[in-house]
Amino acid sequence: MIKINNLTKSFNGFKAVNNINLSIKKGEIFGLLGPNGAGKSTLINIISTLIKSNSGTVFLNGIDLNSNPNDCKQIIGVVPQEISLYDNFSAYDNLLFFGKLYKVDSTILKTRINKLLALIGLENRKNDLIKTYSGGMKRRINIAAALLHNPDILLMDEPTVGVDPQSRNQIFGLIETLNKKGLTIVYTTHYMEEVERLCNTIAIMDKGKIITHGNLEELKNQSKTKDLLKLKFNVISNEQINNFKNNFDFEITNTNNELSLFCNIEKNLNAILNYSVKESLIIKNIQQNKTTLETIFLKLTGRKLRD
Ligand code: ADP
Ligand code: MG
Repeated sequence: MIKINNLTKSFNGFKAVNNINLSIKKGEIFGLLGPNGAGKSTLINIISTLIKSNSGTVFLNGIDLNSNPNDCKQIIGVVPQEISLYDNFSAYDNLLFFGKLYKVDSTILKTRINKLLALIGLENRKNDLIKTYSGGMKRRINIAAALLHNPDILLMDEPTVGVDPQSRNQIFGLIETLNKKGLTIVYTTHYMEEVERLCNTIAIMDKGKIITHGNLEELKNQSKTKDLLKLKFNVISNEQINNFKNNFDFEITNTNNELSLFCNIEKNLNAILNYSVKESLIIKNIQQNKTTLETIFLKLTGRKLRD
């Protein structure tokens, strides 16, 4: 669906996008996660034909973006990082305007506008001026504007920045609904919780490069980060500790009747608890510290996502 090869974009010699290779499959909600300045918007702007790369290729549905930008524009809808709507127009008139820009036939356009307004839950506000809308409502109109020409792929650049938590949840719901209808979604953000909640496939971007790519499980494996499970027992003998260590093939350390188990918790929890019962151990407390995208990012770059 989207195939990116050796893509580079420099600004005055600074590589904002540095030799990126990436493929995004049909039907995915693809999360592009990275701190501010990573190059996410630059990448999105290249795919959406707003700016040109210096080298490399992008194919959308097999169509070469460099040689056929206009065909590619029809395949993608873009929700830009900065909201772009006319404040003194109503929501409906904004949508009419953007639909005409995309040369959507006017009868089809009116039907689509009404359908999209219903989908984003703003039918009853359609004649109000945009300047009376909240940040979250503007975002939803921006999303509708990106869908008027019925694209296959929706590119969303940090769509929850400046949005209150309630609207944020509405936008998440909307993204999931659109994805179920068959839309492929590319979602950029610097919030790892959003990516963990929404995205099937994740690419972490830093300093113009994709540093890792896959589903959460694959990212965990690639970065070799382990969850930490702490089991506090009433009492555990040295022999029982050794049995534990011999029985499992991951790292186990112990202090004061407490074992620290470095493993994939989801995969191993059952076996660990069963084994404890079998050894007649009494568990006093369980504490878990699961690997997140934050810990993966820290492991791979030595920095926090939100430094
Ligand atoms: P992100 O969206 O991940 O925050 P951007 O793609 O906006 O990152 O920016 C990546 C880097 O490229 C930043 O260092 C930014 O300052 C630089 N940059 C982006 N656009 C331009 C531009 N038009 N001119 C010069 N530098 C730019
Ligand atoms: Mg950006």
